[in-house]
Amino acid sequence: MQAGFSRRRFLRSLGAAGAAGSILGSATSSPAAASDSRSVPLIASSMSGSSSGFVHPQKVLLWERTRKEVREDLQSGNLKAAIVPTGSTEQHNEHLALITDAATATLFAQQAALRLYPQVTVSTPCPVGYSPYHMARKGSLTLRKETFLAYVFDVIESLTAHGFGTILVVNGHGGNHGLLKGAVPEWRRKLGVTLDAVSYGEGYTDEELATFLTSYRQKLEGKLDTLARQTAHSHASENETSILMAAYPDRVRFITLEEYDQAGLNYESDMPPKVWEYMEPFEAQRTTNPENPRDRARQEQALLATPEKGERLIAMGTRYIVDRLQRMMQATDAGRPWP
Ligand SMILES: [Zn+2]
Repeated sequence: MQAGFSRRRFLRSLGAAGAAGSILGSATSSPAAASDSRSVPLIASSMSGSSSGFVHPQKVLLWERTRKEVREDLQSGNLKAAIVPTGSTEQHNEHLALITDAATATLFAQQAALRLYPQVTVSTPCPVGYSPYHMARKGSLTLRKETFLAYVFDVIESLTAHGFGTILVVNGHGGNHGLLKGAVPEWRRKLGVTLDAVSYGEGYTDEELATFLTSYRQKLEGKLDTLARQTAHSHASENETSILMAAYPDRVRFITLEEYDQAGLNYESDMPPKVWEYMEPFEAQRTTNPENPRDRARQEQALLATPEKGERLIAMGTRYIVDRLQRMMQATDAGRPWP
């Protein structure tokens, strides 16, 4: 009962957030144009997709559709491909909601599907990923590697059973990345469909990010003095915080560095014996270095985030996924092997 209730709430929240994300301007290519579009519905005709009018953002979400709608879209040949978002529920420092990676993966997937409407649907996201090394921070959840891979495979296999010939996993969490890349070749052989897995962060290079993200520019210019500061970019810092500020401002809290320091956080002292035991296989993560300084550097870099930077990141990452999906669908149509 309780589980059912929570699940319904989670799905509702994703649906609502997805709808919000779609009118936040990431549909357009420049931040200025993006801001202008905030008060109007998404206009698909202005994009590279084949639709000629308004598309309600929920129409590309599989779990918001009925069996009749999915059946008819598949039968007509309008619907060809599915995206499977994978994320995590894990600590994102002091200021971002735990659902961040599942929310961003779903956001990028939905934005890409809207541009390609009606050809692409977004499958129900995988909300928990492989995150054992985050367990020292409260609230983080993790799956075992085999649970995560079995879940994603089962979802993909369900989709192939319904006739989807092109399936792209869009990942939002670093811990899932290597697992997915490693599993995809075997999944392709087993399922015989056009299948791939990308993390949305693959859509940018550090050099591109350095043109508008301060922390990346400082890194390239050698202005970040410690290893902790140089490696703080990938998680909960300027990049990810900007994306959340643009698409999901309700999931961002404002935390000053002073407040962070006052909390006196420490990966060792903050870890109950049970978690300490759990973390044993992740030896490097149990020590104070470099995790404590890196944690602080992330909090510092998050203060550089703005919604405008987030809009650019969403537009760039979405273009990357759209391009990949278009080429995958062409391969499926032509009967060519992928990749
Ligand atoms: Zn994240």
